[in-house]
Amino acid sequence: MKYLHLIPNYCLKALNILNGSGYEAYAVGGAVRDILMNRDPHDFDIATSALPDEIITVMSMHNIKTVDMAKKHGTITAVIDGNNVEITTYRVDGEYVDNRHPQEVEFTTNIALDVARRDFTMNALYFSSDGTIVDLNGGTEDIRAKRIRAVGNAEIRFEEDALRIMRGLRFASELGFDIEAQTEQAMFNKKALLRNISGERLYSEFTKLVIAPYASGIIRQYTDIFAEFCPSLLKARGFEQNSSYHDKDVLEHILAVLDSIPLTDGCRDVTLAYAALCHDLGKPYVYKTDENGVGHMKGHAEVSLKIWDELADRFKVDNKLRADVSELIKYHDTFPEPEQKSVHRFMLHHTEENLFKLHILQKADLSAHTAKASGRVEKLAVIMDLEQKIRNKNLVLSRKDLAVSGKDLIDIGINPGPQMGSTIDALLEAVIDGAVENNPSSLLSYALKYRFNS
Ligand code: ATP
Ligand code: MG
Repeated sequence: MKYLHLIPNYCLKALNILNGSGYEAYAVGGAVRDILMNRDPHDFDIATSALPDEIITVMSMHNIKTVDMAKKHGTITAVIDGNNVEITTYRVDGEYVDNRHPQEVEFTTNIALDVARRDFTMNALYFSSDGTIVDLNGGTEDIRAKRIRAVGNAEIRFEEDALRIMRGLRFASELGFDIEAQTEQAMFNKKALLRNISGERLYSEFTKLVIAPYASGIIRQYTDIFAEFCPSLLKARGFEQNSSYHDKDVLEHILAVLDSIPLTDGCRDVTLAYAALCHDLGKPYVYKTDENGVGHMKGHAEVSLKIWDELADRFKVDNKLRADVSELIKYHDTFPEPEQKSVHRFMLHHTEENLFKLHILQKADLSAHTAKASGRVEKLAVIMDLEQKIRNKNLVLSRKDLAVSGKDLIDIGINPGPQMGSTIDALLEAVIDGAVENNPSSLLSYALKYRFNS
């Protein structure tokens, strides 16, 4: 059978052990879908007619260790040759509460019932150890037609668990598939249920969506759905900028920028993807026209930053990503003068990694402007060139490059706290300006003078 060689040995071993003990067992879910699409499969999941305790028993008879943390949902994790395989008993989900939690799960030996609880036909394919595929819903045909279709009645399935709406859009963004018409209509009809979904679950799916290759098309087509947790997207849609630098409305500009963030191994950097998405969302809120009818959007970066903050709160984004995206949004429209000292000063405020990302964002942003922005493109090239020269010269780039430490400064009477911060900033500036040499005695005497004067 042509796909069999793509199933790793550890997974075949689990299937054979279960089959050998008289149970049905299949590889199922994302890995099977990916194999049928010639994509690299990852995490192999197994569905079986064996009950959780039976899974544990047969695995232990073959000296295979199991972990039973998710046993109440029917899942046992087997550790085979160093790989974790999730083995889940066929199951029927009971009544759903809050459009997300099945109240209880019921185990079954009927594979058709297990199929029926899965979200999309392409995710409801079962693959046996002899290479046959069980396809009760037309999943293989849907994959061939590049189509995402709910298993069963889409509206009911999204009422049970509204996260499925996001999962469907996420798969579309990853795979470039269309959403089948009734499934799509049900997504729009049931979008308000996304409000009941936890931030963490939304975040996980939306992040995969926004870094994936087809994100811009999906965000354009399903703006109304994403507006359930990011209403500013609706403000941006169709919002004309009336500026000679722009020939697109705010949302179309944003999507063009997102498209211009390069893909590495099939996906975008998360920080850059969120920064591209949010960088101009503040524009409609600060928009003003002058006497010539020309649009101005001064201060939009600050408002975009607030919008990102609200989204990050809703999603419970970790501090690092929150701060990195904030930095890119805040500075996306800021360019130092293209001369040594201004560029050097600008470099003090950013790590090398963030500066690198900032310039990717700025390039993508400028590429989505009219030709009138070409002056800025040239300016950015000069700035980046100067940055490289400054780096090559090993000049001071952060506090840790100064020839004095915080402790040295405390020893001469600088208070730890705000005074310390401002003294260090003043030292860095002075070194850049050439007003003081970067050696301990010059720096300490400068610090004392600074303290005396401030
Ligand atoms: P990925 O390749 O991103 O891991 P996946 O389809 O494997 O995608 P998982 O979250 O690993 O996604 O889920 C494994 C399988 O469990 C899915 O293929 C699907 O059959 C089922 N599933 C997961 N989440 C849901 C859900 N919310 N509702 C119904 N079925 C689901
Ligand atoms: Mg998976």
